[in-house]
Amino acid sequence: MSDDQRRISVDLSGQVALVTGASRGIGREIALGLGKCGAAVACVARSQGKLDEVVAEIKAAGGEAGGFVCDVADSEAVQKVFDAVVEAQERVDIVVNNAGITRDGLIPRMTDEDWDQVIATNLRSVFLLTRAATQVMMRQKTGRIINISSVSGLVGNPGQSNYSASKAGIIGFTQTVAREMASRKRKITVNAICPGFIATEMTDALGPALEDEVKKRIPAQRLGQAYEIADAVLYLASDSASYITGQVITLDGGLTA
Ligand code: NAP
Repeated sequence: MSDDQRRISVDLSGQVALVTGASRGIGREIALGLGKCGAAVACVARSQGKLDEVVAEIKAAGGEAGGFVCDVADSEAVQKVFDAVVEAQERVDIVVNNAGITRDGLIPRMTDEDWDQVIATNLRSVFLLTRAATQVMMRQKTGRIINISSVSGLVGNPGQSNYSASKAGIIGFTQTVAREMASRKRKITVNAICPGFIATEMTDALGPALEDEVKKRIPAQRLGQAYEIADAVLYLASDSASYITGQVITLDGGLTA
């Protein structure tokens, strides 16, 4: 992504961020954006090589970052990574739960495995990391948790009952944890972002014919770009968003309008 595509600049210097699914797509742009705004970024995913590239890119731009190979559905592994980050940095200010997968299929043919894998990767992971993060953030009395849901979690999408359930689950979870964390004595916010169709490897799988069909359904007549989601994350992570909590922000080119 070139510099002129990054439209928001916030000051996150001295802050520590953790981003799941940072190896590519939306998570990669979020990690790069946070790094550019001065946060030290812990980049989490399963692919070491791609994580190394993102970490190198953040460092080349003058930022601080580290890569952590981890399956976000694995409770022990998640806790281990989180503890390692806290031990090294002594705090965690921003957690972005972004890692996600699709295993599409119509409901009569949906396998147990496809259901379980999507729920574990997309929803259980958000619970695991948020639980760990809130423990540290409550001590700090500050923190930002930003969960990446989807328009599929708002209005459903045929073939994605597992994915839609995981993303709708994230919304209810976000609203509840936001209420639990809100207090006059603490500055912890918890919000969700619902992207529409964003150009990444996830949507590459649609193929050109289906992509054209999708574009016809989007009032903006185009797919979103990963940096457009990253910019919303940067805003929610910034001081300017201190009074926003428990909210679901949709970025979809008008798809669900
Ligand atoms: P993507 O390009 O497929 O990237 C997914 C990321 O998640 C990768 O970094 C992947 O890294 C990581 N990941 C997957 N399973 C993981 C696991 N078990 N443990 C750790 N990391 C894992 O997807 P994307 O389009 O950027 O999507 C990012 C998020 O936005 C997802 O939650 C997705 O549901 C949501 N979203 C996307 C769109 C869209 O149109 N693209 C729309 C709405 C919502 P490794 O493979 O290296 O582990």
